[in-house]
Amino acid sequence: MVCLHFLMKEKIPPSFAAAGKKRGVVLYMQIVLVNPPNCGRSLPEEEFGITSLKMIFRGEPLALEVIAGNLTGHGVRIIDLKAEPDGLHDLLNEGSTPDLIGFTAVTCEANTVIRMAEKIKKAYAKPPLIVVGGHHASTDPGYFHRPVIDYVVVGLGKLSFRLLVDALADGEEPEDIPGVLRVRPGGPLSPTKRLYDVIDLVDDQPPRYDLVQRHRDRYVMSGVGGKVGFVVTAFGCTHCCSFCSIPSLTGGRYLSQSVEAILRDIQLLKDIPLIRFVDANTFGDVAVAKVLAEKILGLGLKKKIVADVRADTVVANPDLLRRWHEAGLVAVVIGFEEIDDRRLARMNKRSSLEKNVAALHILAEIGIRVVGDFIIAPDYDYADFEGLARFIDASPIALPIPSILTPIPGTPLYRQLVGQLEITDLDYYTFSNAVLPTRLTKKEFYTLYSDLMKHLHQHINQS
Ligand code: SF4
Repeated sequence: MVCLHFLMKEKIPPSFAAAGKKRGVVLYMQIVLVNPPNCGRSLPEEEFGITSLKMIFRGEPLALEVIAGNLTGHGVRIIDLKAEPDGLHDLLNEGSTPDLIGFTAVTCEANTVIRMAEKIKKAYAKPPLIVVGGHHASTDPGYFHRPVIDYVVVGLGKLSFRLLVDALADGEEPEDIPGVLRVRPGGPLSPTKRLYDVIDLVDDQPPRYDLVQRHRDRYVMSGVGGKVGFVVTAFGCTHCCSFCSIPSLTGGRYLSQSVEAILRDIQLLKDIPLIRFVDANTFGDVAVAKVLAEKILGLGLKKKIVADVRADTVVANPDLLRRWHEAGLVAVVIGFEEIDDRRLARMNKRSSLEKNVAALHILAEIGIRVVGDFIIAPDYDYADFEGLARFIDASPIALPIPSILTPIPGTPLYRQLVGQLEITDLDYYTFSNAVLPTRLTKKEFYTLYSDLMKHLHQHINQS
């Protein structure tokens, strides 16, 4: 057991006092949760001067707000470097040292987080503990097995991060919290297998929306409805599309938040007109979805809502989508991925072109706009790019988003193709770089991709 004497505080704010009593001594931690800046590199730009293909991620850091929601009794704040690029610099020059800094990261942010961790460890005489969680930590925890990282949190972290923080505040060095890896030389690179359950959601504790309130004007969804607030309705997915990392966050389970928690969070966002449900398969539990729509209507919440939905869910439940439209659903995001059944089967998408087209017709008839995700495979040739453009032109898709097939470490696709990767630097895993060999030359491939994007922009402007 290590004595973390620097975690012990003599004076604590009154609001923390009630929840922070342990062994007769009041202990709590000062925690800073950091959302990385927009980062990642662009090969089309670096090699061919094509500047139009950078991915920019927008929106509030809901994962951190959710984690913060379960840290009652500790001092916690969020620095969103996508909204405040100087936030880390300001933190390092504050004069006081937090006890723990926690990062979240998707794959293209992993190297940036490691670089920031190095900077932090050098900046303080007694550096804070560094903890990394989020998508990349969950699918590829061994990547963060480095001297500047102290703990990796794998999968759903709202409960396990709380247990970690409490143990550290108690002066313990925990070894056996499910989903938490202690990083040390010779330590484990992957967590022992664990089960996830609704208890991991701790959904009686709401997200700390207040911690990013100062950036609220920056969280917008252009083209749909301006200022947007994020709400989580569920975690995980029972499907296993080969390219997707979502199922690994919950061990392949689909865990719904309670209807009460979802309604509470929508109402916490007060007058924000647009609500984005951020889980990747919002109507994965049709029974919950039905109850939720009725409750929203009953309460007269009058919000515009955007959600992700599978095409087969739309086809199997058109009346549910109709009711949701009445409840405020104005747009859905659908991963069509491909326009060819053979390629869809290769991805294990468990859908078909016929179902995708049927879903588009149902949604058009109801009046729900569609944001359509497509995946450009590295073996695309001229005819494939042309075929995709023709399909989108002929379809009622308000916002088509084509990205390049990218094997994210930890996914089935990665295990299948790891031997063929041309680029392993995760800075390029932005879904806008070809990290696998392409059938066309890279210049032809990126030029056609860029032309497709320009063509689709005209399409968006006309829709
Ligand atoms: S792409 Fe969608 S349906 Fe497929 S595994 Fe991921 S979340 Fe589930």
